[in-house]
Amino acid sequence: MIKRQILIVLLGIVLFNCSSEDEINEDQQVSEKTIYTLPVVVHIIHTGEEIGTGYNLSNERIIGQIKTLNDDFRKREGTLGYNTHPLGTDAKIEFKFAEIDPDGNTTNGINRVNVDDIEYEIGNDAWFFDTLPYYAYWDKQDYINIWVFPFEPNIILGQSSVPQADLPGLENKDTSGTTGIMITTPHFGTSDLDGGSNLGRSLTHEMGHFLGLEHLWGKIENADCMEFDDYCDDTPPVSRRTGNCDGTPALSCNGESMLTQNYMDYTDDACMNMFTKDQVIRMRYVLENSTVRKSLTTSLALDRN
Ligand SMILES: [Zn+2]
Repeated sequence: MIKRQILIVLLGIVLFNCSSEDEINEDQQVSEKTIYTLPVVVHIIHTGEEIGTGYNLSNERIIGQIKTLNDDFRKREGTLGYNTHPLGTDAKIEFKFAEIDPDGNTTNGINRVNVDDIEYEIGNDAWFFDTLPYYAYWDKQDYINIWVFPFEPNIILGQSSVPQADLPGLENKDTSGTTGIMITTPHFGTSDLDGGSNLGRSLTHEMGHFLGLEHLWGKIENADCMEFDDYCDDTPPVSRRTGNCDGTPALSCNGESMLTQNYMDYTDDACMNMFTKDQVIRMRYVLENSTVRKSLTTSLALDRN
């Protein structure tokens, strides 16, 4: 329950957002669209452990996490990210470890940072994004910065910055601050951690926010279907999270089944497997139009030849 309470608080802090038919041309089928490949740098913030122990996660786990992210965004058959739901859509967005660092040197896209080398104390600020650049920050126009931050399990899973775009819910976002995604170490990648958030889906969820998606219920949860909007027409109208995946029937505000399996709900990682078509259209629109997202599609941090 602590996790859920914290997440409610985070919901109030991080404002993100789906799509409107008026705003987005849906004529082009997603299946026919270009595959975008975006460079990621994973900053592993650790406390001096050997690689592969404690907060200093192994390369294998980090690589596995980015594979999960790609499996989910590409709805890859044979993975947990596959589904046969009529709304389930391949986003045709992929993520690749950066190959060139900001100094022009080759890199494996994994940047290990020992906090002992940084003159800043962990946890001083409630708002992670004010402090994360002290540890590491690569040019936000060229890299998706992912900070893996040492923190206790099942308290905070992750946070994302929000894009600016001419879409409902994203019009007036200030993008001058830190841009990227923070995932707390216990929830980054696959592990045997208790609590349900142990299969790397926190990053899938936060990447949805990073590309402009709202939670299914919008910004503020309520139990009474009072006010809600995720700006996606094909997600059922809901005003609250499902919060479980035990098969308990859960109905939306108009009596439809809730999309418990959607990445933008708060179900356990094992239950998630879907972005809808409208969610995908919204994310791709953001990627094609937002000032601090569009440049990622052509970033020279990847060898694109
Ligand atoms: Zn969220």
